[in-house]
Amino acid sequence: MPTYSEARKTILDHVTPLGVELVKLPAAGGRILAEALVAPWDMPLWDNSAMDGFALRAEDCQGDERLRLAGYLPAGETPTTAVTAGTAVKIMTGAPIPAGANAVVPIEEAEEEDGWVVVPKPVPPRQHIRFRGEDVKAGTEIIPAGTLLRPAAISMLASCGQLLVPLFRLPRVAILATGDELLEVGEPLAPGKIINSNSMALAAAVRETGAEPIILGIARDNRESHLAMMAEGLKADLFITSAGVSSGDRDLVRSVLTELGVTPVFWKIDIKPGRPTAFGTKDGKAVFSLPGNPVSSLVTFEEFVRPALLKMMGHRKLFRPSIKAVLQEEVKKKPGRLHLLRVMVTAENGGYRAQLAGDQNTGILKTMLLANGLALLLADQSLFRAGTEVEVHLLDRSFEMGDE
Ligand code: AMP
Ligand code: MG
Repeated sequence: MPTYSEARKTILDHVTPLGVELVKLPAAGGRILAEALVAPWDMPLWDNSAMDGFALRAEDCQGDERLRLAGYLPAGETPTTAVTAGTAVKIMTGAPIPAGANAVVPIEEAEEEDGWVVVPKPVPPRQHIRFRGEDVKAGTEIIPAGTLLRPAAISMLASCGQLLVPLFRLPRVAILATGDELLEVGEPLAPGKIINSNSMALAAAVRETGAEPIILGIARDNRESHLAMMAEGLKADLFITSAGVSSGDRDLVRSVLTELGVTPVFWKIDIKPGRPTAFGTKDGKAVFSLPGNPVSSLVTFEEFVRPALLKMMGHRKLFRPSIKAVLQEEVKKKPGRLHLLRVMVTAENGGYRAQLAGDQNTGILKTMLLANGLALLLADQSLFRAGTEVEVHLLDRSFEMGDE
């Protein structure tokens, strides 16, 4: 049985980024760039004015000078008159600097009168000019492949005239619940039956990564039902099943997946919660069989499926931010297995504190609801005293962004 780290590594070794597709701006926002963006031209394309003002020769302005206005240049037009000794051109922000000029004086710092401009103070050369290529030089790499396209990146792509953007394709992720006890959400409750919450939870978790969930429904605890629905699931880019993967006599997931040609890579991971988590592949596609318990399925999705999906989508950063936090209470466990505790992390004095989010029994979903982190309690240790520093994977985006 692989350890936590072995399982994570093995999974990532088995998945590769999906193909590339061209997506039109601005829909490329939030996606991952598949090929580096190289500047096709200098940005800005020419020296231009950073202010509404007067383009002139700095050497003509030693203090309280009067220059003749030789032209007017709004944005969007090209200069026709050069600036010569003793003259200036009225210029608007963004207009190209006329030949001969080497500085701009803002309108507020000069006085215009009858075809003349008075500049009361000395002007340093280069003032208020945006120089050709000062932002980006033609031929330089602006955005490396694997970058998440945020608005500034979209701005660069647009400025480079790149309307069609090469992006990694988004995985289609099939989700299958299994179990005779399951009802779909909205069906009337019945004795012995529980609501299939996992399909909804996993679909939401998949969507949060940016991938596309496909909810297949419920496979009943018989071979035929499993065969039919799993064959469907194996058509997606990635397949997730929930429940039926322990050793109960109705747990058919493993045997039917094998029958359908899935090569098992491992059947269990040495962790708690989430030990009955299986992973296999078919034709290079990843198949995850997660535990049925709602807490375990979400925790194992978070730690094992999410990084795989991010890799398939071409992300360079596959894991949530990991921090060290000080445990606020004593926790005991049996040595041997790594435990993932649902914790509430708060920032304090430049560090972090981790408090248990509630009862750690895997049947308690509410604890997962309150948690903004998963604390890793190392396999070989059994006693974690209050004050011990533990590694925590942050789940909550607002926390990641520091705006608690
Ligand atoms: P199993 O792995 O089939 O033994 O299921 C483990 C536990 O998870 C049982 O208590 C199931 O009732 C529960 N469970 C299984 N599938 C789901 C599901 N889709 N939604 C919510 N709970 C489930
Ligand atoms: Mg079952």
